[in-house]
Formats: sequence, C-alpha cells, structure tokens
Amino acid sequence: MGNAELLLVISDVKLMLVELKAEYASLKDEIRELISELGEQENNFLRYIGSVYRDTEKMPYCPACFDKDKKRVHLKSSPTDRNTTYFTCPVCKEWFEEA
Ligand SMILES: [Zn+2]
Repeated sequence: MGNAELLLVISDVKLMLVELKAEYASLKDEIRELISELGEQENNFLRYIGSVYRDTEKMPYCPACFDKDKKRVHLKSSPTDRNTTYFTCPVCKEWFEEA
C-alpha cells in the first residue's frame, strides 16, 4: 500500500469515526429520553388501594371510570359522621368508602 492510499484509508476511517460519534450521541439522547419516560410512567402508575386507585397524588381516582374508560377521574372526598371518608365521583356519581 502506497502512502497516498494509506492517507485515503485514514481519512475514510476518520469520516467513519465522525459518523459513529454522531450516532452514538443521538443514541445516548434517545436512551436518556426513554429513561425519563419510564420514570414518568412509574409516577403515573396506578395502584389499587382500598377501594380506589392511587398514584403519587393525594386525591384518589374513581375505579369505576378507570376500569370502564381508562379515564382518570379525581374523586371528591366528603367526610361522614362515622369518622370515615366517602369519595364520590363527579362523573359516574358512584361513591366509595376509604378503606
Ligand atoms: Zn367515576
């Protein structure tokens, strides 16, 4: 291999490195985005606690609406005279007692 050929190969390799670096950078960005999306999903994950659905928010969600339409409807709490809390759904008008 002559010197001129060698220089060509080297410049090819350099170009490839530049392309790979760009690809690597965009993959890193993509991974970062996916990881943050996963974190959000974890926060939005509903757990069935007692008789209602909860995520990280204070107010629970209506299980009837979520099971039926996958809608997250915040329940309204109304205290009773028996030291328990009732939650009522503004959409389907169901009520749930806090466990
Ligand atoms: Zn409801």
